Amino acid sequence: MKPIIGMVSDELVEVNPRMPDDHLVYAPHDIKEAVYKVGGIPLILPFADDPSDADAVAEQMVDRFDALIVPGGPDVDPLLYGEEPIPAMGIAMHQQDVLEIAMIKATLKANKPILGICRGIQLINVALGGTLWQDLNTQPSGATIQHTQVTLGHYLTHHVTMTPNSRLQQLLGDTQVVNSRHHQAVHTVAPSLKVTATAPDGIIEGLESTDNDRIVCVQWHPENLWFKHPVHLSVFQDLIARIHD
Ligand code: MN
Repeated sequence: MKPIIGMVSDELVEVNPRMPDDHLVYAPHDIKEAVYKVGGIPLILPFADDPSDADAVAEQMVDRFDALIVPGGPDVDPLLYGEEPIPAMGIAMHQQDVLEIAMIKATLKANKPILGICRGIQLINVALGGTLWQDLNTQPSGATIQHTQVTLGHYLTHHVTMTPNSRLQQLLGDTQVVNSRHHQAVHTVAPSLKVTATAPDGIIEGLESTDNDRIVCVQWHPENLWFKHPVHLSVFQDLIARIHD
């Protein structure tokens, strides 16, 4: 049996003038392809406009999948980590955050593994009690390199250094050049997570759980890289490898 990989969908906010309420529900093509490539079956769950049932939905859904991917997407609602939005905040989708945080907690409770990508590293950190830089370039984040790359999204643009003895180091070696399409990043790290990759300016690019192998997160987009740079498929292979019977 192939493992089933759960993922909460995103929703298009741009309005179709002929159908203004018809916001398309979608998931990233390159993640679904990565899941199939490593032998899994993707299962995409749309969030409801009313998130009041999110905990119950997540509790029931977690029995239907073997591992969770938390993909890229909108900014995380800063109210969820105790901050008001600064002027440079982007679009957030509170109801998506609520269901996805419920899914993260239900997945951990069920002792199933999680891979976080871009928004995923940020949301997982918030779900477990950490905070974010709402905008790297207008807050004193220390960012000195371009994290919102202007060139094509699958091009390699900045280095990351992996922490010795981390899972990311085992998968990717001491350093890699990665793509970078984020204006937010992890600020304070949640107590149950540790930093396992950083950019040259110190911005956090990788997190893992401290006490087990349940959580691996990257700030870059490996799903857009593995077609040309096969080493980046390893985080998806690793998610499958972390599924326990
Ligand atoms: Mn970056």
